[in-house]
Order: sequence, then structure tokens, then C-alpha cells
Amino acid sequence: MSPPIRSAGCHCPRVGRTSIHYREICPALPWGRPNISCLEIIVPPPVTHARGVRLRKIVSWARPSYATGLSEAVEESDFSFLNKTLPLSLYVHIPFCRRKCGYCDFFSVARPGTVLIATVVREILSELAYFCKKLPGLKIGTIYIGGGTPSLLTDTALKTLLRTLHHLSSRNGGSCLEWTIEANPESLTQKFLEICREQAVNRLSLGIQSFYPQHLDRLGRRVTLAQIERALGLIERLWPGRINIDLICGIPGQSRDELIKDLGRALDYNPGHISLYTLTPLADSDLARQVDPDHQDDLWLSGREVLETAGYRSYEVSSFAKEGHKCLHNLCYWTLAPYVGVGPSAVSTLPGPTGEVLRLTNPDSLERFLGGSSVLWGLEREVVSNRDFFFENLMMGFRLGEGLLVRRFIQRFGRPLPEIIPELWAGWQRKGWLRPCTTHYALSDSGRLLLNSLLAEVLEVLPDISRINLDWKPEALILDSQ
Ligand code: SF4
Repeated sequence: MSPPIRSAGCHCPRVGRTSIHYREICPALPWGRPNISCLEIIVPPPVTHARGVRLRKIVSWARPSYATGLSEAVEESDFSFLNKTLPLSLYVHIPFCRRKCGYCDFFSVARPGTVLIATVVREILSELAYFCKKLPGLKIGTIYIGGGTPSLLTDTALKTLLRTLHHLSSRNGGSCLEWTIEANPESLTQKFLEICREQAVNRLSLGIQSFYPQHLDRLGRRVTLAQIERALGLIERLWPGRINIDLICGIPGQSRDELIKDLGRALDYNPGHISLYTLTPLADSDLARQVDPDHQDDLWLSGREVLETAGYRSYEVSSFAKEGHKCLHNLCYWTLAPYVGVGPSAVSTLPGPTGEVLRLTNPDSLERFLGGSSVLWGLEREVVSNRDFFFENLMMGFRLGEGLLVRRFIQRFGRPLPEIIPELWAGWQRKGWLRPCTTHYALSDSGRLLLNSLLAEVLEVLPDISRINLDWKPEALILDSQ
């Protein structure tokens, strides 16, 4: 019998999606996130905890790996039942990059011309208008513009996009709590910052990854130190909002000292948030063959220590924030709140007509996406099974330092987690992998380091979940997670 292989796609803050699928075959896990690695449950039995830190790779956002054959085309009627007053998070995927980095599997095309940029932005807005029509009571709780490289948009396209989103964010008396846009140093300009500021974007996420040219080179990132410093200088002078800096640890050849210096240089700019991702190269790539997971684990632990000492709380496995700087949009994914994603490859997760979870996926293809409204942008729909939804809740919730809210869990699944997996739970408790807490189901520090293994254990005993009760009501959403 083939070993049970679970491929679990968690989610990427950019693509706004979470998903998990497990299959009986195929050890080749086809994901890998760029700076944002993917969930990697490569845990054919027996599961060992010998080197548990590796589990941390669950850590980062991942792209979902959708099981084929489960999706079907979206139909107009898919929207007819939606709760029209849901506050939702909105993800916008900008599918352009200056060039493709060697480790990235996010959907984007390199070197787009201005006409293509304008065309795609127009179609993104048209898809957004479609969702707004279907959800007339839509209130936007958070917005995240990721990619790809949003800072590659032309000024005109950026203005058009942001103006529309700005207008949308105040619909139905809503007020967007957080609005993030991603940028890369080489394409960040003064004009870009000015346009974002004018339109009330209030959070900037800068993909630096490393300050060492040799490591950037190894990642296939064509950016110079001078460009990084210029971008940081502009941000320091002109950006009044919040800042996240993305860094990667575990690049082949990267030493502990280099990582600590990378972190030190980022900390010099006093960002409220730092995302420290472990490199997850594409499967079967040269980079993948050079990666040493144990070394990666050691680096990540050193990085965590540096950040915690500097006053950043590790509120999620790869996310470190000062007080008041957690990423609300990502918290929405981690707590399995609903969201709409527009743009090629973006995903929406919404309540289905009979209380199930619906996932709508845009194609990883410009050609299909640009088919436009006549083909509903190539959207596909999938019903997430109760069992998958249950597992996603654990997979995402245990990434959080504070864990899963007990009240929300019981509301969703009808009974406490320890009753659903009693033997596992008791074992984890005995081994000190749980943090005693009455309000949350949370892993202890040592438990979090074993996250992948613990999830794999859950998969072994995962019962059928006969019913879920979506608590996707306004009061249960983002504010609850702050
Ligand atoms: S710039 Fe970012 S999204 Fe584009 S290829 Fe590189 S890692 Fe991927």
C-alpha cells in the first residue's frame, strides 16, 4: 500500500487562500512558496519528532494544492444564498514580476508591458465589480494587494485600482481596518508611495529577503543593496503607515551570523512587523538539493530569539509583531474567516448555500482570466468537506501563538477539540506539547516546533465531521482575532 501522503496547502497571505487536500499517492508536493514557504506535511509514517523544528515549515503560508477533479465552473446561482452582510477580507492578486525568482511558484508573468498591465487591472476591477454585485451588502474589513509585485504597476493602473478599492472600502458604512500593499525594493518609487498614501493604504509590506547580494543572487532575486537602501530611505522619509519587512532564513550558504545581521539591518528601520520565512524551494530544483533542513531550523530558532529579544512577539510561526502591529488580514486566514480574492490565481472562501464552505479559485492563467465576465474569469468552485475544514482549522489555528479560540471552535464543530481527538490530546498533554489555557487550544513552544508532526497525527485519526456551523457573522470575525 502506498504510504498516505498528505499534501496540505495552507495559504499565502497574498493569494488569500487556504486549502488542504490529502491524497493517497504522490510524494511530490508541488508547492513551495517564495519567501513564504508552504505547508509541508511530508510525513509518511512513522512520524518522528526527532527533529521537530522542521515542522515549523508549516509555518508559512502556502499555496493550496487543489485536488483535481473536485472543482467545477462557478455559476451565477453560487452567490444567491450568501449572507449579504458579511464583513469580508479582500485579496487582490497582481500577477506581474520584473523577473521570476528561482524559488517562487506564485503565479506571475515577467516583464509585463503597460498594455497588459492596464488590461489585467481592468479585468481585476471587473471581477471585483461582479463580486460586489453578488454581495450588495459587502463590507470590507481588510484589503491585501499582493502578487507578484504590485509596485510594478504603472502609476495610472495603480491609481485606478486604489481609487476603486478606496471607494469600495467605505461601502455600506464600512471602514477598512487594514489595507496592505506589497512592494519590492527595485520597483518601489516615491510616486508609488505617494499614490498609496493618497488613497489611504495604511500598511506596506516590503520583500527584502536578505541584505546579502550572494544570497539574493542564489534566490534569483535581481536587486542590489543600493536599491534596497534607496527603498528603505524613501519609506523612512515618506511612508507614514505601518511596515512589514519580509526576510528569508535557511538560504543555502547563509550563516547564523548573516541572518542575525539581516535582522539587525531590518530592525534599524523599526518596522512594526517582520515576517521571517524559511526558504522552501521548488521541488526538484537545484536550490532544493542544496537546502539543509536542520541548518534551516537552527537559523530560524536564532532568528526568533533575536526578534523576541527586540520586542517582537511571535504571534504566528513566521510572523513577528510589535504590540498593535499584527497583520489583521492574515489573521483572517489563520482563523478561517471568509474572504474574497480577485485576480489571476486568487481564491475566495465563502459560505455555501447549506452551511458548507465554498472555495472559488481563479485560474493560474492570464489567458483564461482575461476571458472576462463571459466565462466568469475562469473561476472554479469547490466545496470544502467538513473534514478538510476541520483540519484546516487546526492547521491554521495551531500556527498562532495564542492558538484556536475554544468558543469559536465549539461553535463551529459542536464539541470541544479534546473530545474529538481524546487520545491524541491526552498524549500531547502528557508530553508537554500543549499550553494550559482555558480560552484557547494552544500548543506550547515545544509543541509548536512539532506542528507538522502533530498535524500528521491528527490526520491519522481524523473522524468524520458530520456537521459544521459557520460562525461567519460580523462579531465573530477580525476584531475577535486582534
Ligand atoms: S518577486 Fe516575489 S512574487 Fe515575483 S517571482 Fe519573486 S518571489 Fe515570486
